Amino acid sequence: MTLAVLGAGPAGAGAAFQAARRKLGRTVVLEQRDGPGGNAGSFDLEGLRVDYGSHRLHPACDARVLADITALLGDDLRIRPRHGRILLRNSWIHFPLQALDLALHLPKSFLIGSAADIVRKRFVKKPVDESFASVLEAGLGRTICRDFYFPFARKLWGLDPMHLSPVQAQRRVSANTPGRMLRKLKRAGTGRFYYPQRGYGQIFERLHEEAAIQGAEFLFGSKVTGMAHDGRRVSRICYEQSGSSGTVDCDFVLSTLPINLLARSMRPQAPVEVLEAAGGMSFRAMILIYLVLDQDRFSEYDAHYFPEERFPISRLSEPKNYSGVSEPRGRTALCAELPCDTASSAWNMSDADLGDLVRDVLRDAGIPLRASIRKVVTRRLAQAYPIYKRGFEVPLAQVDDWLGQFENLVTFGRQGLFAHDNAHHALYMAYCAVDCMESNGKFQWARWKKFRHEFESHVVED
Ligand SMILES: Cc1cc2nc3c(=O)[nH]c(=O)nc-3n(C[C@H](O)[C@H](O)[C@H](O)COP(=O)(O)OP(=O)(O)OC[C@H]3O[C@@H](n4cnc5c(N)ncnc54)[C@H](O)[C@@H]3O)c2cc1C
Repeated sequence: MTLAVLGAGPAGAGAAFQAARRKLGRTVVLEQRDGPGGNAGSFDLEGLRVDYGSHRLHPACDARVLADITALLGDDLRIRPRHGRILLRNSWIHFPLQALDLALHLPKSFLIGSAADIVRKRFVKKPVDESFASVLEAGLGRTICRDFYFPFARKLWGLDPMHLSPVQAQRRVSANTPGRMLRKLKRAGTGRFYYPQRGYGQIFERLHEEAAIQGAEFLFGSKVTGMAHDGRRVSRICYEQSGSSGTVDCDFVLSTLPINLLARSMRPQAPVEVLEAAGGMSFRAMILIYLVLDQDRFSEYDAHYFPEERFPISRLSEPKNYSGVSEPRGRTALCAELPCDTASSAWNMSDADLGDLVRDVLRDAGIPLRASIRKVVTRRLAQAYPIYKRGFEVPLAQVDDWLGQFENLVTFGRQGLFAHDNAHHALYMAYCAVDCMESNGKFQWARWKKFRHEFESHVVED
């Protein structure tokens, strides 16, 4: 049996690792980039190891997945304390939230407003037409929504919260009621995360190495361009690599490609209504702007969060403070996350202009650069976040149902299920998908359906 795995991000690398370990047959992985990790990968920058934006392995990771990561990384997997801060109305608030810090630093008008909202909440009627805005406002009140969640949502997803689906509030905001927020506050003292010494992407590099040792073939730099099928089964994957085209004949396909792209790549083409539905689904893009600075460290914080719209970036991270490594001395990097659309002018800005933009944000936020910029480097993620505009379920279900008719094709992962997920969720999905595969090539669809139902309860950890 030949198993084709499409994509080598967390979901694809995890699936290849599990399939190769179970000796399910020949496993061939097609990945357009030159290495594993997808949006959760890492790369070298001027002697530093940096990630595609702030990434942490959350302790909520499934126990079986975490045990494998721990075994693969050994002492390189560290437990690190979280130490970030949020800029709100010119005050810096510690993140994760801490009760004493909130009492000391939260603007009084904000505290009073939030307390009044909790009382007022009892008298607010539930709107007939739910949205991200109505769910959060009903749960948390107007003050915190107006100052924090709504501007952050507009920045992250590019839509007014009124036009975002209520599902986005359930999947994306874990503390969406005062009770949940209090429970989070109580847990905040134990804010810890796992982080590999050589960057977050080391997890997927190790999964890739181990899968390759077990016989999986990785075709990096291979962009999937088409999938031949007979209406029932997919028989061949077509790809392009360095200007030439190739094919892989397959018996089963595990795809982690964006689900709309997957539907569009089927040959013969999907019905017009399915293609239209695929066209109606969109992802928010992100530019990652790295500043390499001639200094040991920019700050003691791992991440700075910028919810307010006056700042175009959403977050700034300092990779050295994630790993805790001190080398190289006299040099550090910052990574600013700029959410945008691929059709916007920001997407085509030069590295120099993007570097200036970050420098100005830091100056205006009161944390100016104090060392010279050695280099500005950017990376662009075309699919950073799925956008759940209201009614997104309809086109998604249409595409998903049509793909569901193929008896040897399974789609999963963040892009594959159009899900707001962490990398550990994507890995868990990969493990579940391979668990459903039998050595005779059969797939346990009823079991997969139950897993799919379970995945809907995943809530993103920030
Ligand atoms: C800024 C940011 C911060 C995040 N922080 C965290 C965090 O702290 N902790 C956490 O757990 N998660 C975090 N996440 C989420 C995490 O990155 C994702 O959950 C994870 O990357 C999803 O893995 P995936 O394999 O499903 O998708 P992806 O990582 O997107 O992988 C999909 C792969 O498919 C490949 N591909 C796409 N099209 C083709 C094609 N045509 N041919 C061949 N290959 C193709 C891509 O190149 C990619 O490698 C963050 C995400 C972002 C954007």
